Amino acid sequence: MNIILLGAPFSGKGTLAKDLTREFGFVQVSTGDLFRENIKKGTDVGVLAKKYIDKGQLVPDSVTIEMLKQRISKSDCKNGVVFDGFPRTTKQAEELDKIAKIDAVIQLDVPFDIVRRRCLGRRICSKCGEIYNTATYSKTTCAKCGSPLFQRDDDNLETLNNRLEVYEKMTAPLINFYADRLVVVDGSKDPDTAFKSACKLLKEI
Ligand code: AMP
Repeated sequence: MNIILLGAPFSGKGTLAKDLTREFGFVQVSTGDLFRENIKKGTDVGVLAKKYIDKGQLVPDSVTIEMLKQRISKSDCKNGVVFDGFPRTTKQAEELDKIAKIDAVIQLDVPFDIVRRRCLGRRICSKCGEIYNTATYSKTTCAKCGSPLFQRDDDNLETLNNRLEVYEKMTAPLINFYADRLVVVDGSKDPDTAFKSACKLLKEI
C-alpha cells in the first residue's frame, strides 16, 4: 500500500509518517529529508535546493521529481511507501500517478494559527529524526537514542509565512486532485490522536 500525507508545514506529516512506518512497515519517503541529505553532502541537487528552501519556496519540479523517482526505484520501497511532503504540485502528482499506485491520501488538517505556534518550538533528533516540540519536551537530547536535537534553518516565522503561502497556492489544490482517495485527519490535536484516527481510516480501506 502506498500513502500520501498531505498538509501544511507543521501539520504533523513527519511525525505521522514515522508512526505509520513503525505500525505498518512502510518506508517513509520525505523529499524534504532527501534535500537536506543532499545539502549535507554538498551535491549539485543540494546546492540548488538550498537556495529555494532558505526562502521557503518550492524546489523546481524537474529536480524534485527526478530525485523522487530515483529514491522510489530502490527495492525497500516495494512493500509500501508513506510519501511525506511529496507531491506538492499538480505536476508532481501527475508524475507520481504514472509510476506508483496511490491507495490513500491522508490530509492532515490544521488551522494556520496552530501551525505558527508549532513552528518556533520544533526540534529534531540529529540521528534518528524523531520530532519534538519545546512546548511539551524541554530536553536537548533525544528520548529515543540520546543524540542532540537541532532546529531546522527554515523553521523561522519569515520562511514559514512563505511556506504557508506556497502551500495555499501550489499544494492545497491537490485536495481536489485526490478527492477520490482522500481521508481527512484532524492534525490540531496531539500526535497520538492523529495516529489513531489515521490507523482506523487505513484499516477501513
Ligand atoms: P519539508 O521538510 O517537507 O518541510 O520540506 C522543506 C523544504 O524542502 C520545502 O519548504 C521546499 O523548499 C523543499 N521541498 C520539500 N519537498 C518538496 C517538493 N515535493 N517539491 C518542491 N520542494 C520541496
